[in-house]
Amino acid sequence: MDTGLKIKVFNFNMIQVNTLVLYDGTKEAVIVDPGMGSLYEQAALTDFVKDNSLTIKYIINTHPHIDHVLGNGYCVSTFKAPLLMHEAGLGIYTRSMAYGAAFGLSCEKSDFPDPDQYIKEGDVIQFGNQALQVLYTPGHADGSVCLYVPASNCVIVGDVLFADSIGRSDLPTGNHALLIENIQTKLMTLPDTTVVYPGHGPTTTIGSEKRDNPFLRI
Ligand SMILES: [Zn+2]
Repeated sequence: MDTGLKIKVFNFNMIQVNTLVLYDGTKEAVIVDPGMGSLYEQAALTDFVKDNSLTIKYIINTHPHIDHVLGNGYCVSTFKAPLLMHEAGLGIYTRSMAYGAAFGLSCEKSDFPDPDQYIKEGDVIQFGNQALQVLYTPGHADGSVCLYVPASNCVIVGDVLFADSIGRSDLPTGNHALLIENIQTKLMTLPDTTVVYPGHGPTTTIGSEKRDNPFLRI
């Protein structure tokens, strides 16, 4: 059996969020940041899960911005898996309907079910043969977490870090100094070869962001 971690990246909704499905040869899987904004996108995700005979163990939000949580209700009701997020993000999450309206997204209250479990720094989320280490990295938004997978040399960072850029800190609960501090202490300390999966745009590596990211030059 192939025990290595596989990551399928979908690009969903008008804000172009990266929705990830993490899975391995055990067929257990987690969904990170379900951002489906249409029936078509819901079907694309569900077809992938079915075609690969996956069992969804958890649904995880890296942070509660509307583009990352839009498909929460669909995933929870379709896959009957617990929804995980950091407790500090609840304030933003409970205002999802208002943020959705502001972005012109069609959504309803049932799209945003209450989380089943809170995750925090140091937690390890296990499924199949995988272990995701939770790093707490606020600065882009309250409740932002990254998921580090040392065995597979990768990290899922939500909107904390992007290829050649960093997350916005001008939205409610953003804090630029805190964002930079968390990137420097929690992410730039990972091995240079670590593959970075951002919430938007292409993958990168810690090493290339150390070298080229203009926001991280001191
Ligand atoms: Zn965000």
